[in-house]
Amino acid sequence: MVRENPAALLARLIPGQSFALTGGTVIHDDGSQSASDIIVGTDGRITVVEPFLDTGSCGACIDISGMLVSPGFVDAHQHLDKTGVLRFTPNPSGTLQGAREAFAKYARTAGPDDIHKRATRTIGRCLSRGTTAIRSHINVDKDAGFHGIETLAAIRDAEKHHITLQLVAFMTPHPGQDFEWLGNNIDGAVALADAVGGTPAVSEDPPRYLDILFSAAVKSGKPVDLHLDEHLNAGVHLIDAALDRVERFGMQGRTVFSHVSVLSALPRREFQRIAERLDKLNVGVVTLPAANLYLQGRDYEMLPPRGLTRVAELHRAGITIATASDNIQDPFVPTGSGDMLEIARWTLLAGHLRGDELSAAHSMITTAPARLMGLGKDYGFRPGARADFVITDCIDSDTLIAGGPDRAFVLSNGRLVSQSTTQNIRLKEDA
Ligand SMILES: [Zn+2]
Repeated sequence: MVRENPAALLARLIPGQSFALTGGTVIHDDGSQSASDIIVGTDGRITVVEPFLDTGSCGACIDISGMLVSPGFVDAHQHLDKTGVLRFTPNPSGTLQGAREAFAKYARTAGPDDIHKRATRTIGRCLSRGTTAIRSHINVDKDAGFHGIETLAAIRDAEKHHITLQLVAFMTPHPGQDFEWLGNNIDGAVALADAVGGTPAVSEDPPRYLDILFSAAVKSGKPVDLHLDEHLNAGVHLIDAALDRVERFGMQGRTVFSHVSVLSALPRREFQRIAERLDKLNVGVVTLPAANLYLQGRDYEMLPPRGLTRVAELHRAGITIATASDNIQDPFVPTGSGDMLEIARWTLLAGHLRGDELSAAHSMITTAPARLMGLGKDYGFRPGARADFVITDCIDSDTLIAGGPDRAFVLSNGRLVSQSTTQNIRLKEDA
């Protein structure tokens, strides 16, 4: 019997119809992989995942034998208010400070329609490449005002059936930061967001700034996600200052440090001391290889550093570490397609993971960011979780990371949202 094309069957699914995917190899939370059938209910959530299920009562049964089913990719750190502004924001120095200044200038005139158009375009591209959840930092400051956070909050709520969006109120400091403005506006911004964020290293008074951010988090009951020490100056790091506040404000397990590039500039013994504190206080890390490779180390005359944090050592120390896109086509990172497999490969190469750690790179775009975003039981292969899958023709997670698929289907909330195929067309030899 000829097996009907799964693409055609997936495309014919009626919204709200239950269905079964049978015979695929599922990548479980712990990285193990085994053949399992999946039943998706009428609400777009998983009903059951087990081998050899009786799928007779399902509205449709789709045989995906020989295919690999990954949970949807999770991009734990983007900037959807900045995406796509590259051509309007020249950054001749190519530095982080140059990018900040270029965007601050643009943000003064960026209206809601402009932000909406750029953000939805990038969200669509990410979804089509398998990303089913994004956490985005959104500038809230005297330049950007509330345009970004209000626009993205509306998109988050309107698109919740298509993609899981979390917003971080990114209370951006500038030289001469107005702490009164910050104090008057942070609660309003956090109310629209899902987490509290900021960049302590740029603040003129980091301890005061950190206290304001953590206080707002406790007051709102929302987690903290900091851009922490996105630089390589070992003499001025703020990791301990931030960890002290995690402890004092009781934010253990609810705090993420993004970047932490400076860890690579510290002696190993000092890194080990900090890693023990991260572990003890249950603080996770997000590495952003695209931004670090592009922006860091530009003042080195020779052998510029990678600029990433100690990716492999954090992973091996048992710290939850995710990798993410950061900026997509703006003055901070001029490139970016929303493809998390691309980001995973850069992380593996620039972060010095080994060839036997390809599955770690897969966890860094799936289970690790899901944990850091607190997606909980909504994520992964368990009853009740959203049916967010990337189904490919790869044989396992190693081949998915190493080379990617020739054929892929993306399901979000139980609906097919994209399919792609690379066709190998053989040229006819001249007779
Ligand atoms: Zn960022």
